[in-house]
Amino acid sequence: MPGARLEGVAASEGVAVGPAFVHAPDELEPQRTGIAEGEVEAELERFRGAIEAVVAQISEARDALSESGSEEAEILDAHVEFAGDPELHSEVEERVRNLESPEAAVLAVGEEFAGLFAGMEDEYMAARADDVRDVTSQIAAQLMGLRSSGLAGLAVPSVVLARNLAPSETARMPREMVLGLVTAEGSKTSHVSIMARSMGIPAVVGVGAEALERALGAGIVAVHGDDGYVVTDPDADEVAFFEGEQAEAATERAALEAYRHVEARTHGGRRIEVAANLGSPKEAADALSWGAEGVGLFRTEFLFMERDELPTEEEQYGVYREVAEAFGEKPVIIRTIDVGGDKDLPGVSGHEEENPFLGWRGIRMSLDVPDLFRPQLRAILRAAAHGNLKVMFPMVSSVEEFVEARCLLAECREELEREGAETGPVEAGVMVETPAAALCADELAREVDFFSIGTNDLTQYALAVDRGNEKLEKLYRADHPAVLKLIEMTCRAAEKAGIQTGVCGEAAGDPALAPKLVALGVTELSMSPPAIPRAKKIISELP
Ligand code: PEP
Ligand code: MG
Repeated sequence: MPGARLEGVAASEGVAVGPAFVHAPDELEPQRTGIAEGEVEAELERFRGAIEAVVAQISEARDALSESGSEEAEILDAHVEFAGDPELHSEVEERVRNLESPEAAVLAVGEEFAGLFAGMEDEYMAARADDVRDVTSQIAAQLMGLRSSGLAGLAVPSVVLARNLAPSETARMPREMVLGLVTAEGSKTSHVSIMARSMGIPAVVGVGAEALERALGAGIVAVHGDDGYVVTDPDADEVAFFEGEQAEAATERAALEAYRHVEARTHGGRRIEVAANLGSPKEAADALSWGAEGVGLFRTEFLFMERDELPTEEEQYGVYREVAEAFGEKPVIIRTIDVGGDKDLPGVSGHEEENPFLGWRGIRMSLDVPDLFRPQLRAILRAAAHGNLKVMFPMVSSVEEFVEARCLLAECREELEREGAETGPVEAGVMVETPAAALCADELAREVDFFSIGTNDLTQYALAVDRGNEKLEKLYRADHPAVLKLIEMTCRAAEKAGIQTGVCGEAAGDPALAPKLVALGVTELSMSPPAIPRAKKIISELP
């Protein structure tokens, strides 16, 4: 029997085949809550079997970590201990004897225990509530035929299936354990796709909740990240086909090796800088090895989102300095915080908005919350003493916003100088990602040092098509004539003012679009690092 095929969005290229790993932290709803009297003994057996399996899984993950003797290893030791806890077992067994299904019972007991921990005054003990929930949901997932519930338990290289993944979850995925990614929600420019591309993980997103539901019981899953489909439990012919595709992709990658470290120029000699989009300094070495000629977009919001408290100026300085130093003389464009829209910042943007993408995001929020913005600007100015840093403001829709941000930057510089702190020169540019910015490009170009076109947002705002809605995938086109006209206007204005125009939206790394962008006058393309060698090859073949 050939496997079932699910259609989705080709979010990150490459092909993968591997065991399914279900990441379903919110979806552990037991289908069966009660059992019949005659089933009690068999269900108790099933519960014991699930405990054994989960202990084995966690121990396997723990052994994989033991060399480093890390904090994670200690956490996993504690998880093994809790999974074997006699009190947990007897509470669940009592409920099963009272005709509750073991999956419902273990989740309920997990909640009870977690509640006890959460109520403790000692912060460390209170934090154990999450560990308890983690373990009991793993046992419940096992009983429900789902492989596991949390990405931390990913011990075997697998294809991850999830409803959606938050940027922080994607960032924390153990890269070497994730062969491929399939999500029910999302589109090509949603953040899970952007991160999968920069991590080089084949991904298909937006397969829909129903299709994902059907796939949850699969043993093996094959992902076609180039063509946007998934096959669950493929038969031998299908596996052979996917393996052939993998071999072909490897040959193509080998042919691109020669382009990694060339300076990108068109055949006619026009220099086009090919840079990387990064979300963390940890990605810098990898980006350089792919041949990045700079950083066209350093997304700083991930630094703010992976935690409960805002990072201090000092921490930010450390991060920006690290990326500046890694790139040396090569330019690094740090984008100031861009939360709001689909990226929530706990403690700042956590309120509901009717239309978050048209709401309080990017520069709008930064100008309203100086306590958020000033430490970031100060950190960038200080880090600029250690490399070639530039600053860029997101979501600008008027010249006034840029002027206000630039004034704040100047104020921060004066303040730092008064304090005797070391700073470096910093050019200031804007992202052109609202139609307003493109339509006012002439006026903006007279003020700014550079433009970088954010085609992800520019497309959604120009076409009134939500970038994250998989139902609108066909309408979301960065090569729509309206979007191309806005890009052209921006390039013409930049040329007149003698400034550079980059593109840091996903269109920059799209082989079909890059030639159009270069023809329109773009001077820099910034993309996920694995796309760099192919972009350089394409540029070298342009007139
Ligand atoms: C864009 O909008 O094109 C962009 C690069 O920014 P982000 O995807 O982070 O919104
Ligand atoms: Mg954007």
